[in-house]
Amino acid sequence: MSGLLVMKFGGTSMGSAERIRVAGQICAEQAKQRPVVIVVSAMSKITDLLLDTLRKAEGEDRHALEANLEQIEQRHSTACRELLPADRQGKVLESLHSIIGEFERISQGIMMLGERPPRSVDEAVATGERLSALLMAAHLEATGLRAQAMNGAGLIVTDAVFGNATPLMEPTRERARKLILPLIEDGVLPVVTGFNGATLDGRPTTLGRGGSDFSASILAAVLDAAQLWIWTDVDGIMTADPRLAPNAAVLPEVTYSEAAELAYNGAKVLHPRTLAPLAERGIPVWSKNSFSPGRPGTRISRVVSAPKGPRAVTSMSDVVLVSVEAADPELNGVQVMSRALAALALANAELLVMTSSSYRQNFCFLIRRDELPHAMASLENAFALEMAHGYLRPFDVNEDVGLLTVVGEGMRGVPGFAGRIFTAISRASVNIIAIAQGSSELTIGIVVQRGGLEKAVRAVHDECQLGK
Ligand code: ASP
Ligand code: MG
Repeated sequence: MSGLLVMKFGGTSMGSAERIRVAGQICAEQAKQRPVVIVVSAMSKITDLLLDTLRKAEGEDRHALEANLEQIEQRHSTACRELLPADRQGKVLESLHSIIGEFERISQGIMMLGERPPRSVDEAVATGERLSALLMAAHLEATGLRAQAMNGAGLIVTDAVFGNATPLMEPTRERARKLILPLIEDGVLPVVTGFNGATLDGRPTTLGRGGSDFSASILAAVLDAAQLWIWTDVDGIMTADPRLAPNAAVLPEVTYSEAAELAYNGAKVLHPRTLAPLAERGIPVWSKNSFSPGRPGTRISRVVSAPKGPRAVTSMSDVVLVSVEAADPELNGVQVMSRALAALALANAELLVMTSSSYRQNFCFLIRRDELPHAMASLENAFALEMAHGYLRPFDVNEDVGLLTVVGEGMRGVPGFAGRIFTAISRASVNIIAIAQGSSELTIGIVVQRGGLEKAVRAVHDECQLGK
């Protein structure tokens, strides 16, 4: 299949009948020119609502459960009525109702159990994508195209890490090609649910919050697509969060590595794991805005023609800095570090930054705040003995921090950027707590006091002349 275009529409691009109509128009235009596969997110806020419903079920809050179900039903049936001609509504309303019925049954089960088994949560939470795929396919059909809603659970094969599964590319390739390619050859537009997959033996999984981008990139990779377009509600990847730096500009192009670093370090525009399957194969990605589809967006590929230097600065405020310090100089610092890392791996925590002092006596790492309870439990368990005997000081947790990351492949081998960045931050009177630059020189991560984060972002953005 040559020239295949995979397009993914995010939650706001699917958020109402009006938005689905715009997305449909984009699909129709592209489908005239080349084979197209569509991947959709749930309508905006629906995934949160589904998860909240499951929590209410677990807490046996029948009243809230019913109110939520009513809201889910309302949102989709309203969109259906506004979107489809009267004679097409009945059948689709029935299908919507039946998918919501399946969700309700899982919720009832959770209420009975008083707990939320991860596999049932994954099955239930993909309901949002199933509903939006159904609406999109029905809409495309109503406009005279041929389309078919498809459940990603039948296409994307993953491991069994519920809630954050990883795709198994070979079996996915086999399944997805077998089911999708014949449809395209037949002139049918596949509308695939993002976010979900299933294990080889059919247990439902999801790819992590925001995982529809990842679904689209997995499908683009295994279908050997020519391009992936990701439709969101912003103009592309920006030099900074425009709420922090009002003169932030859209980057016309970035490399896969830069985009991945930006995503991992807090830029919300792409799911961090999206780029790996594409980078390997050199499939270019465009990040585009469905609210202004005429704008070019950001192109992500292997090489760009940008000048030397930093490209963008991101920030994260929902982070904590944990310090580990030996009380006894006899303690082998490298061993402490390696055991601490093993404990963090066990807790599935992601290290955003790690730095250590020269004499191995102290090291610190930055993790997401929501990973803190798990990570601390795992660390305390690993070092119970050292703590009890006073070989290690109590772990120090600093919650009053933020992370600023400067990203740019062009910083490699060019002296002076780090100096300018630190000077700019100190001129803004913001204290730097920890610094990390990998030897790839692709990013410089700087941990600062939370209160100074915004000022520091603006200072660096201005100093590096990243804005408009
Ligand atoms: N609907 C899912 C979420 O909100 C996946 C996505 O939107 O990409 O996390
Ligand atoms: Mg989303």
